[in-house]
Amino acid sequence: MDRRTLMRGGLATALLAPGLARATEPALIAIRTDPAQVFRTTVCLRPFRAAGPRIEAETVGRKQVIHNYGHGGSGWSLSWGSADVAVGLAMQSSPRKVAVIGAGALGLTAAITAQRAGAEVTIYAKERFPFVRSARATGIWSPDSRVAQTATMPADFPVQWERMARTSAAMHESFVGSAGNPVEWMDYYTLRDPEPEPAITEPAIPEPFDPGFAYLNDRLRGLMPAYGSVAPETTPFAATQVRRGANLTFNIADYGRQLEADFLLAGGRFEHAEFHAPSDLSKLKEKVIINCTGYGARALWKDESIVPIRGQIVWLAPQEGVHYGCYRDGIGVLARRDGIVVQDFGPDEAFGWNDANETVDPLSAQATLEKLKAVYRA
Ligand SMILES: Cc1cc2nc3c(=O)[nH]c(=O)nc-3n(C[C@H](O)[C@H](O)[C@H](O)COP(=O)(O)OP(=O)(O)OC[C@H]3O[C@@H](n4cnc5c(N)ncnc54)[C@H](O)[C@@H]3O)c2cc1C
Repeated sequence: MDRRTLMRGGLATALLAPGLARATEPALIAIRTDPAQVFRTTVCLRPFRAAGPRIEAETVGRKQVIHNYGHGGSGWSLSWGSADVAVGLAMQSSPRKVAVIGAGALGLTAAITAQRAGAEVTIYAKERFPFVRSARATGIWSPDSRVAQTATMPADFPVQWERMARTSAAMHESFVGSAGNPVEWMDYYTLRDPEPEPAITEPAIPEPFDPGFAYLNDRLRGLMPAYGSVAPETTPFAATQVRRGANLTFNIADYGRQLEADFLLAGGRFEHAEFHAPSDLSKLKEKVIINCTGYGARALWKDESIVPIRGQIVWLAPQEGVHYGCYRDGIGVLARRDGIVVQDFGPDEAFGWNDANETVDPLSAQATLEKLKAVYRA
């Protein structure tokens, strides 16, 4: 999720709701933050394109390639809607067989969508779950997180984005209640204190670098449950303003497996393959190819419009009774079933911008846990 949305008190779609007092507030348990709870730390790159995801057809030799990559911090969220657009382009020539390159969130959803459109599908990929970058995402509905740049996106992008987001939401919701909980609703809390009055002598704070990300969630007003105020004293949080909403959470360990299983059950095949240049695609037997290579498209297609935006996640073992998400001052937590993901979103939106370093930073991981501790009352 992006900082701006979170600071506004949850999804913009739900901003104007009155207080959401429940007859009985759930007894929230503070997350144990000691380092002994950590079972791994991961790094991932958001494949950001200023113009938005590339979803278009290109002829490469005798092949028709449909690109479907560059979804920034919104890849899981927009996956099904993006697949709908890409597969629509792929099926224009009514191919019997379709190849999909890539087995991340975008590749699997495109492959399943192509099967439902009547194609026999083979996925060619260098990595599969759990080794794809999609496996290292936060796992929350965040359809406009670092998805495009206001100044650069095409004029019709917001309309296409809205269609993709609405299609995706409906598909994600269709998994709620399935065995293994690939997708579920989870309470999400946004926490803040009143802004302190600025001291007259305070030095001016430099404006943070703002890549000019497009924020489009206002177009989805009413799609997600509303956020509203909660009495802070009924919570363990060290904040004077607490708002609670609900958000779709992706338990990615299970979601990835379920998508792979659905694909295989419908007769899909995986083949291990690595492509080094577009000309390598001539080796495939399929004439129509959907290219879902994510950040990998930067090297494969020499697409330098892809900017990596780095994010690091500290994973705590699941804790009994802890089943919510919260955000405060740049720290976001989501207590998923496959691990509690803790992420430092940094001082401003540009955190991780153009940083392709996928090595874990242990010092920053330690600092993330310290910051999480401060989210709770002592
Ligand atoms: C820290 C972090 C948190 C995030 N949290 C969220 C979130 O909560 N919600 C959300 O919606 N999005 C989130 N995102 C964004 C999301 O993770 C990405 O947009 C999404 O994973 C991109 O998926 P993909 O399938 O395009 O790429 P990938 O998952 O990278 O998959 C690419 C596939 O292509 C294959 N491939 C690549 N190059 C080649 C090649 N040359 N030859 C053969 N195969 C190749 C790979 O092996 C892989 O199978 C987050 C991103 C980060 C970094």
